[in-house]
Amino acid sequence: MQIELTTQQKNDQTAFKDFVEQEIIPYASQYDQEEQTPIKLIEKLAQKGYLGTLLPKDRGGSDIDMITYGLLNEEIGRGCSSLRSLLTVHNMVAQALLKWGTNFQKEYWLPKLASGEVIAAFALSEPNIGSDAKSVETTATVSGDSYILNGQKKWITYGQIADVFLVFAQHDNKPSAFLVEKDSPGLSVNPIFGMLGVRASMLAELQLNECRIPQENLVCRQGFGFSHVAASALDYGRYSVAWGCVGIAQASLEACL
Ligand SMILES: Cc1cc2nc3c(=O)[nH]c(=O)nc-3n(C[C@H](O)[C@H](O)[C@H](O)COP(=O)(O)OP(=O)(O)OC[C@H]3O[C@@H](n4cnc5c(N)ncnc54)[C@H](O)[C@@H]3O)c2cc1C
Repeated sequence: MQIELTTQQKNDQTAFKDFVEQEIIPYASQYDQEEQTPIKLIEKLAQKGYLGTLLPKDRGGSDIDMITYGLLNEEIGRGCSSLRSLLTVHNMVAQALLKWGTNFQKEYWLPKLASGEVIAAFALSEPNIGSDAKSVETTATVSGDSYILNGQKKWITYGQIADVFLVFAQHDNKPSAFLVEKDSPGLSVNPIFGMLGVRASMLAELQLNECRIPQENLVCRQGFGFSHVAASALDYGRYSVAWGCVGIAQASLEACL
């Protein structure tokens, strides 16, 4: 079994390290204090192709392997956990669409997510619902050609700047997943400040008040929102967070030596 990094993986790791040393580490503490990530930094991340690394090339991504994706999360996490959490949620949504989206959703959204033209956030948690995610209280009902969403989402990483949210809601009492664009009627986004950590990750609370979205924004089938869409996205999320934590440990070790 090959347990060493390949030459390509080592080269990619060096490139990630250089980016983090130059663009992130000198400013991370300032971003943390200011409780925001500058859009310019996100644009630099996008220009490097780091927002679309996992997506296939024909969707605009660079189709890197999972180890290289882990190394990217480790390095970004070493510099700034907040920015790593952007990689986490953005890729969770991208992977959910790649796996469960309709052809139209893939064609429309994936190139935009890969290039960073669109930033995505993952909106599962609610004021009353965390671990027991299949019991979300947000509802979706059909009205003509639309779904009407009502409810609240909380702790939504980079929700303050996201262009599109993957929102989970009960449709006929079955957890289902929907794409909600930031300018959808009935959606309001309220910043959350004063977090203890990852303070630059621009968390938000979403209010969905008779929020109207097109019916084609259902992702996967009704009732598959938790078992399929959220579950597989969360696998990618946990993987990204775990590598980011290795980065935090590495930074802590370097700081105390
Ligand atoms: C910085 C940050 C960013 C976040 N970003 C997002 C985001 O982008 N999108 C999103 O949807 N959510 C996000 N969240 C919410 C996060 O996913 C939830 O905090 C998580 O699901 C846990 O829910 P909870 O905090 O309500 O804890 P709870 O569900 O109340 O759990 C509290 C504790 O009880 C334990 N526990 C719960 N149920 C059981 C059980 N049945 N048996 C044994 N132990 C149990 C848990 O393991 C945990 O240790 C974020 C949270 C934070 C802090």
